Amino acid sequence: MASQLHTDLQVLTSEAHAGRKAGASEGPNVSAQYIYDRFEKLGYQPKYQPFEFKTGFFSTATGHNVIAKLPCSSTQCDFNIVVTAHYDHLGGQGTSFYAGANDNASGTSTLLFLAKSLQKVKRRHSVTFVATDAEEKGLYGAKHYVSKLGVNTPATLNINLDMLAPNKRNRLYVLHSKKTELAVEVLKKQPSEPLRVKIVNSRYKMQRLMDNPRIDWHKASDHYAFAKENIPYLYFGIGEDKNHHTKRDTLESLDFSRFQLVVKFINNFMVELLNVPLEATN
Ligand SMILES: [Zn+2]
Repeated sequence: MASQLHTDLQVLTSEAHAGRKAGASEGPNVSAQYIYDRFEKLGYQPKYQPFEFKTGFFSTATGHNVIAKLPCSSTQCDFNIVVTAHYDHLGGQGTSFYAGANDNASGTSTLLFLAKSLQKVKRRHSVTFVATDAEEKGLYGAKHYVSKLGVNTPATLNINLDMLAPNKRNRLYVLHSKKTELAVEVLKKQPSEPLRVKIVNSRYKMQRLMDNPRIDWHKASDHYAFAKENIPYLYFGIGEDKNHHTKRDTLESLDFSRFQLVVKFINNFMVELLNVPLEATN
């Protein structure tokens, strides 16, 4: 488990990826290509999903989501579970760039981990992995993905991964929307020690639990794009990080063993979730 996960973190935070700024290159950037190749090596047929987003009053740029689909292993899929993690970050200049290790190389490498591990398990639901772009600029990749879902989309649940490397407090928050009762039941059954998992059903409760009450966690990441279209979500993240959006958010400052606990926890949850019938509630 450790080595590929660590490699993915290393590559995504490397100088070659220059802080993974959205829209900095014409086509898919080096990070999008890396994710695409990783999916392909796992046997998927990944797709780039390009989209335009605003960079100023009169200027736009092109971002690229990277999407891979894992069908269910039964004759009929109950649900489509869309796992999202944004791979973009703030960019930088030359050797001085924002590595974005926790935000969100951690979520992206976890998504790639799941893309491999879930291939081997029984699945009542299909899974779509979406590595989103231009989250930092305004959730543009996720909004574009949701806008293309169409009316005949099967019932969908979003699992959003953004900032998964805990600090000394060992906390992991799971903020969830309404209509997620069955998934939350599964979540509550997962052994989590030594992590301290806080399952939170409202943004206000989340604010009370946090050091910083000013952030609206309901809107803080890609899950909000789903919520706006009444698609239920579970958002996994560690909450406040003192290195957030600073040049200190590096691989060196990320506690890899704690991060692995989170990956294991989310993986166990996903394995179980795929095995449980979910009623179409949306
Ligand atoms: Zn983020």
